[in-house]
Amino acid sequence: MVPLDDAIAYVLAGCEPLAPVTLPAAEAAGLVLADDVVAAEAVPPFVNTAMDGYAVRAQDVAAAPVTLPVVAEVAAGHPATRPLGPGEAMRIFTGAPLPDGADAVVMVERTERLDGGHAVRIDVAVEPGTHLRAVGEDLKPGEVVLSAGDEITPARVGVLASLGVDEVRAHPRPRLGVMSTGDELVSGPVPLAPGQIRDSNRPTLLAMAAEAGFTPVDLGWVPDDDESIRAAIERGAAGCDAVVSSGGVSMGDIDLVRVVLDRIGDMRWMQVAIRPAKPLAFGVVPGPDPARPVPVFGLPGNPVSSMVSFSLFARSGLRRMAGHPPERLHLPRFRAVAAEPIPRTPDGKIVFVRVTVAAGGPDGALTVRSSGGQGSHQLGAMARADGLVILPDGDGVGAGDQVEVLLLAEPPTIGQAP
Ligand code: AMP
Ligand code: MG
Repeated sequence: MVPLDDAIAYVLAGCEPLAPVTLPAAEAAGLVLADDVVAAEAVPPFVNTAMDGYAVRAQDVAAAPVTLPVVAEVAAGHPATRPLGPGEAMRIFTGAPLPDGADAVVMVERTERLDGGHAVRIDVAVEPGTHLRAVGEDLKPGEVVLSAGDEITPARVGVLASLGVDEVRAHPRPRLGVMSTGDELVSGPVPLAPGQIRDSNRPTLLAMAAEAGFTPVDLGWVPDDDESIRAAIERGAAGCDAVVSSGGVSMGDIDLVRVVLDRIGDMRWMQVAIRPAKPLAFGVVPGPDPARPVPVFGLPGNPVSSMVSFSLFARSGLRRMAGHPPERLHLPRFRAVAAEPIPRTPDGKIVFVRVTVAAGGPDGALTVRSSGGQGSHQLGAMARADGLVILPDGDGVGAGDQVEVLLLAEPPTIGQAP
């Protein structure tokens, strides 16, 4: 058996980052930057007020309460047309530029409007700088505000927009072709003939690809026939950056995906020391660009196995293609406490246990418990799971023991009061 880390390293080595492209920043959300972004201007670009209130000279309100004449109004987008003179106040609204001559803002709650708005009583003294936002207080010119390898999250879209950056260089979103193999499979609401089951892996894997930020491409269903499988893989390699198939990679005679992959590509078939998802065929096949062979993941057919295998291998490999740095390729991990015993038998493998995650453990710890039947065909428990406990080889853990968990989904219970 191949240790999990070796299998992951082998897969990652076959998944080179896609060449960066230049594109409008507005279309780059979710992509990974290929270059650092350096601020060319300051944010904020001018001193402005963080509060609604009155712009004053701090020295004029030192003896508060004082009454000052209100000589103008300045709003966001409407700077004052003249400086503030000694002994004067200007009404000012959040985001408006501080008028020349002023050095502080008194919040409106600490004032009283007098004389129909022509004067104001200031009830507090303020230091110079009070309620002001300095030039460059958020982003400074010359500062590296985003780095190569950063995913362009919504906040980073905002940073780019606030700097006036309208083009970025980023790695494209990988296109992932998904096919399912197996003579027993049917799709759609048709009655099942004897021996048939419905194809659940293809829709599942297409959804996982989309959730992970890749562009899913449906390559359809393929019968257990080597010519059909070869044609489907080649079709996928022609139009996609990577291909995943499910089924046809275990020990049996009709496990044709690994046979075909071996014939048309540079393939390694592995029995990975994990449960579920032991068999994995990973290889590269020729694509349209001779310099860039196309990675193909032959995932096992059992529904839970195909999902676990996707999460551990295909997702990480495709994230590398998408430009993510090594520390951000894998599913997030966290520690939790087992709320009940999670037994297993020693067999040299790491076991991934489908669990629900809840708050309410000792000292604020998260707790996990089995989400149901742990067979690799039992998708029900996978559908209820928030995470996968990583159970090292041995006899399992007892109630109250610490475990490591891979996060599969945003657990609805985390953070809620018990
Ligand atoms: P295989 O890896 O092809 O030997 O398949 C292992 C098990 O997974 C068998 O029980 C298959 O019927 C089942 N299976 C294979 N592909 C799918 C699929 N696309 N959807 C649901 N079950 C599948
Ligand atoms: Mg099969």
